[in-house]
Amino acid sequence: MNAQAALAALRARVRNAAARGGRSAEEVTLLGVAKSTPSSRVIAAVRAGLRDVGENYLQEAAARRSDLARQLAESDTAPPRWHFIGRLQRNKARAVAQLFDAVHTLDRRELGDALERHAAAAGRTIDALVQVNTSGETQKGGAAPETVPDLVAAGAAWPHVRITGLMAIPAASDDPERTRPAFAMLRALRDSLRGAHPALVELSMGMSGDFEVAIEEGATIIRVGTALFGPRESA
Ligand SMILES: *Cc1c(COP(=O)(O)O)cnc(C)c1O
Repeated sequence: MNAQAALAALRARVRNAAARGGRSAEEVTLLGVAKSTPSSRVIAAVRAGLRDVGENYLQEAAARRSDLARQLAESDTAPPRWHFIGRLQRNKARAVAQLFDAVHTLDRRELGDALERHAAAAGRTIDALVQVNTSGETQKGGAAPETVPDLVAAGAAWPHVRITGLMAIPAASDDPERTRPAFAMLRALRDSLRGAHPALVELSMGMSGDFEVAIEEGATIIRVGTALFGPRESA
């Protein structure tokens, strides 16, 4: 399937899911997850209208940005917004603050402090979503739900890091219905914090296997890789 057809098919599924949830498809940002996908496929999708690209790995992201800048220079396509969705560590905070418009994997205060320092030094302001561990699995990234209010409150001290919402990566399942409770939990957590933090609007949740259920449960950003770009080249 070419990029235009793949994007159109995905958008139709988004519209149907939004309608089932009583929502408008315009409330849902489609984030194309580019990891382990040839840049040519990502660039074709951007040319076909994809506005947001997600990256897990810094080196791959840097290479793709230069490929994309080179190719888009010859057309009048605007560059996409870049989202970092990989595991965030302190030694990556500088590059993330310099290169990305948004980061979805903020899960500790020290990372927010590091992002703030580097974003300020770069003269940039970036968006950040707090990653929440909705499953209680200790080996998983993400802040424990009970620590999220303090982390969101700490954001008041970060003028260059704007906390705009919550993100989760629930355990994948063959049955997307099994992921629904985790999505509902993330939404309830955001709603409970929104009175004190009106900027908390985003819910980054749902991947290729379960984005329709996530949209029904209120997702505002879905992170879709294989359902848009096809199978990845490596894990
Ligand atoms: C790889 C990845 C995705 C996309 O996965 P697909 O199943 O290919 O849609 C979404 N979110 C994160 C954090 C990922 O690492």
